Amino acid sequence: MNKIILKAYGKLNLALDTIGKRADGYHLVRMIMQTVNLYDVITIQEDDTTENITLTTNRPDLPTDQNNLIYKAADLLKKEFHITKGIRIHLEKNIPVAAGMAGGSTDCATTLVGINSLFSLGLTLEELRARGVTLGADVPYCLMGGTALSEGIGEILTPLPDIPSCPVLLVKPNIDISTKWVYTTLKWQDLTTHPDIHKMIQALEAKDLHTIANTMENVLETVTIPANPIIQTIKDTMLSLGAINSMMSGSGPTVFGLFESKEAASIAYYQCKQNYPNFQVELTEFVGQKQVQNQI
Ligand code: ATP
Repeated sequence: MNKIILKAYGKLNLALDTIGKRADGYHLVRMIMQTVNLYDVITIQEDDTTENITLTTNRPDLPTDQNNLIYKAADLLKKEFHITKGIRIHLEKNIPVAAGMAGGSTDCATTLVGINSLFSLGLTLEELRARGVTLGADVPYCLMGGTALSEGIGEILTPLPDIPSCPVLLVKPNIDISTKWVYTTLKWQDLTTHPDIHKMIQALEAKDLHTIANTMENVLETVTIPANPIIQTIKDTMLSLGAINSMMSGSGPTVFGLFESKEAASIAYYQCKQNYPNFQVELTEFVGQKQVQNQI
């Protein structure tokens, strides 16, 4: 049976700024996105027993119908290209859910890539992006991967030099954050500080990890942290355990820290596992654009 197995990588934000709002309510953002080596595994195969899309997953709390971005991606291509065969998809979820790591968007992007390949649709990356943005603002970035500047509502992408590799510690607290609530609560006109994106791009070009880490800033922390002080506690823990810097990703609640040495990161990992036994704790690293695009 024709079958394809792909990795759908999560992302972190090294910088996140909002610079305005569109009439339709979408915020205009300037973000530096970064792929991280934490991934879902998506298996897609033709299904001769039905004409339908069948989605299964190891996470019973996730929808398996039209409310799942995987289903939406499959449905979009199935209808556009009149695919009459059934499509069976299994999602092995490893990326924390509703965590600010674009878990749904990356699954969506990877499903587009997988069906394009499995059914030989011949769509280019550009053509996949055009379809992806109709399903989610972060989907075009997830198709690109690596280090990138994301502007507009997330659809204007500029690839940047890969960040120097270093250990990355992630802690996802056991709290639910609604991205919509964070953006609607944010008073972007009142923000007094903004990330220095220009400086970060220069630091990426110079491969200067310390300046990159010390330039990290996320304006959404001003909303999410006061409502969820545990996020600040985790940031402080990472700093006290030797992180060069630590920040919340996206609208949260995932906190990540960059470390200089594997030893320090490993000690911090075990300490965080002990401090936060109910939270998802992962020790990982960054992934470059080539590695993401090898699948396309
Ligand atoms: P972002 O960083 O883009 O804001 P996120 O990491 O905060 O995303 P997701 O993990 O994408 O959030 O999940 C948000 C919601 O989307 C979930 O509560 C879930 O019900 C829904 N969802 C739909 N499809 C998926 C999917 N494939 N994986 C995870 N969540 C999905």
